[in-house]
Amino acid sequence: DNAIEIRDVTKVYAARHGQGEKRALDGVSIEIPRGSFFGLLGPNGAGKSTLINIMAGLVTKTSGTVRIWGNDIDTAERAARLAIGVVPQELNLDPFFTPRELLDVQAGLYGVPKSERRTDEILHLVGLTDKAESYARTLSGGMRRRLLVAKAMVHAPPILVLDEPTAGVDIELRQQLWEQVKLLNQQGTTILLTTHYLEEAEELCDRIAIISQGQVAACEPKKTLLQRL
Ligand code: ADP
Ligand code: ADP
Repeated sequence: DNAIEIRDVTKVYAARHGQGEKRALDGVSIEIPRGSFFGLLGPNGAGKSTLINIMAGLVTKTSGTVRIWGNDIDTAERAARLAIGVVPQELNLDPFFTPRELLDVQAGLYGVPKSERRTDEILHLVGLTDKAESYARTLSGGMRRRLLVAKAMVHAPPILVLDEPTAGVDIELRQQLWEQVKLLNQQGTTILLTTHYLEEAEELCDRIAIISQGQVAACEPKKTLLQRL
């Protein structure tokens, strides 16, 4: 079974402010096997965020179907949404909340019962135990990114989606983040990561799709793809 199935998905953004309509995705089909570490690679403007935002329920697709852990996002919206945790590109966090508070709020939003919350375990996993009681505004960029990973994991989704997780993160923190995400994958979480760094996809992913101008240019195991490049 697949973790995610994207079939013939098209997204046309409406014309606005004098700009014409924009076909951001054009007949995209991708299958992401359960347990895989999948990389969605492509230049800026290729349509990666649009695809992630459709899965996250933040953007409405124009046509096509998307199934997440077997749930159609049109007919089983909430089940589909509960099956993924999305780590957004932006590092927005409420400045005067602590990591512990933010994780508690998130757990509340997702209806995770108090007895099932794993706040300390998750904080430890992302290396924020020492910062658990510090205001988010005092955290570095790398720490904020890790806190966003922690937030996405609160409801223990089988799939974790990371949108350009290392954009603007220095090389040392990038390595740390990679190690943490690799560990999650080894523990069974399916990972979908978007990036415009080939190096990042090469290091981490077992399967890679290349998306360019809203279309899938290639989608295959990393080994065969790298042999052709
Ligand atoms: P409207 O004025 O039609 O309500 P906005 O201009 O507020 O829409 O745009 C909605 C969102 O889409 C904003 O977050 C904006 O940054 C984003 N957006 C709009 N056009 C583009 C574009 N061409 N590329 C990337 N993002 C865009
Ligand atoms: P990527 O994440 O690969 O950089 P995006 O999905 O952000 O690509 O953008 C794909 C295309 O759609 C770009 O041309 C972008 O300008 C456009 N786009 C993104 N969001 C909007 C929006 N809200 N309205 C209009 N155009 C948009």
